[in-house]
Amino acid sequence: MNEALVEHWVDNARYAGASTRRGEVTNPATGEVTSSVCFADEADARHVIAAAARAAKSWARSSLTARTRVVFRFRELLAARREELAAIITAEHGKVLDDAVGEVTRGLEVVEFACGLPHLLKGSFSEGVSTSVNVHSKRQPLGVVGIISPFNFPAMVPMWFYPIAIAAGNTVVVKPSEKDPSALIWVAELWREAGLPDGVFNVLQGDKVAVDALLDSPDVAAVSFVGSTPIARYVYERATANGKRVQALGGAKNHMLVMPDADLDLAADAAVNAAFGSAGERCMAISVLVTVGPIADDVVDRIATRMAKLRVGDGTLGCDMGPLVTSAHRDKVASYVDAGVAAGATLVVDGRSLAVDGRPDGFWLGPTMFDNVTRDMSIYTEEIFGPVLSVVRVDTYQQALDLVNANPYGNGVALFTRDGGVARDFEHDVQVGMIGINVPIPVPMAYYSFGGWKASLFGDSHAHGVEGVHFFTRGKVVTSRWADPARSPSSGVALAFPTHD
Ligand code: NAD
Repeated sequence: MNEALVEHWVDNARYAGASTRRGEVTNPATGEVTSSVCFADEADARHVIAAAARAAKSWARSSLTARTRVVFRFRELLAARREELAAIITAEHGKVLDDAVGEVTRGLEVVEFACGLPHLLKGSFSEGVSTSVNVHSKRQPLGVVGIISPFNFPAMVPMWFYPIAIAAGNTVVVKPSEKDPSALIWVAELWREAGLPDGVFNVLQGDKVAVDALLDSPDVAAVSFVGSTPIARYVYERATANGKRVQALGGAKNHMLVMPDADLDLAADAAVNAAFGSAGERCMAISVLVTVGPIADDVVDRIATRMAKLRVGDGTLGCDMGPLVTSAHRDKVASYVDAGVAAGATLVVDGRSLAVDGRPDGFWLGPTMFDNVTRDMSIYTEEIFGPVLSVVRVDTYQQALDLVNANPYGNGVALFTRDGGVARDFEHDVQVGMIGINVPIPVPMAYYSFGGWKASLFGDSHAHGVEGVHFFTRGKVVTSRWADPARSPSSGVALAFPTHD
């Protein structure tokens, strides 16, 4: 039954480990258990981390050209075969195939960014800061990097980190989500095909035991985490207490403000795309729509009309929206809808009773919209992470801005308006890391950095872009004197603090 077991990956080969603990992996569209995934114990984790530590020295010493060529070959293979990876994502996550291809394509952008890394690893040089004294700086890799990722982007989120970490000369141990662990094994095989040496890219499957092993291992220098806020906080606290460098990206509650002067059709299209794409299981999904002024009824009508046309079903069959990732998550999201009704919000569209032809056991929940949501309701205060849009009505722009800024999360936000002055004030005053102006899901390009504020990020480094390069390297500054003995003899013993002239 080897084909149904998702294993770890170490030294460019599959590795089952000694642990007999397993998790179930399901196809969310059919409800079938499709494989089981190995859950590492501490000894398995030590084995995988040790391989990464062994490879770290030689990989760090390999030339920039050699490293870049491997990353470039990986880029070529991934670009040519992205549909294969997308199919694996759809089979375990449930998102529709087009969306899965989009996920891989956005990840590919980070690989492309990493192909140009030698430029960003250049140091600086100052000649003659003093007589015969020069200064130069360099950036060096950290060693072994742990990457812990969530279920909702099994390919893209790890790709925010490992192309840059590897191009910079680190080795990595990736801990995928146990809900959709196969994508990373496919990626590992691609790295092997691209010529990456043994031990540079490793995968450790499992749950909290695997995560804790990464957070506690003295051989792991840094941790990049993405997931929910409580776990992000935990990872940050435990790994920093162990002296590691950590970036831990957490959850979100993203608002979209619609001003009275906005193009309401554009805004309605954007709200539907951003609320229900990937069944709302995106950290940049719009989950709160804030209408400003007298347009609320009109906006809600336009969104409801569009929602009625959405086709929900198996992501391999050309639908707009797929199932939720697991049956437990489906039930949790449905319980939020129950709570919203009980709290008195107006349920405009109810997705709870959705049935999908031919797929009676899939984890279905249709697009759902509440109106008249208030800030004390759990559908407003908590991250639902499903296809549920809450509409909050306010009278003024200032009330809308205050609402966003009072929210504990600060991942993404969008403003729809035709007024450049309001847009300028908004981007200055809003306390959120990623802002869209007439753009609903403002995921930055790979050469900028991705990350939120407040409870959406622990640590101070965002993912990829220049911040990613800094996170995976550390700086050295070298001051050197190569004196010409004939012209500058030793100045003799002098205990005063050295200055230059
Ligand atoms: P999660 O926090 O449950 O899991 C994330 C990772 O942590 C997984 O690998 C999981 O195995 C591990 N984990 C879970 N519980 C743990 C524990 N008690 N101790 C140690 N490790 C543990 O998140 P998820 O449900 O997989 O993903 C959805 C969440 O991720 C949402 O909150 C979403 O907003 C967030 N997310 C954030 C971003 C971002 O960029 N800020 C991006 C994607 C997803």
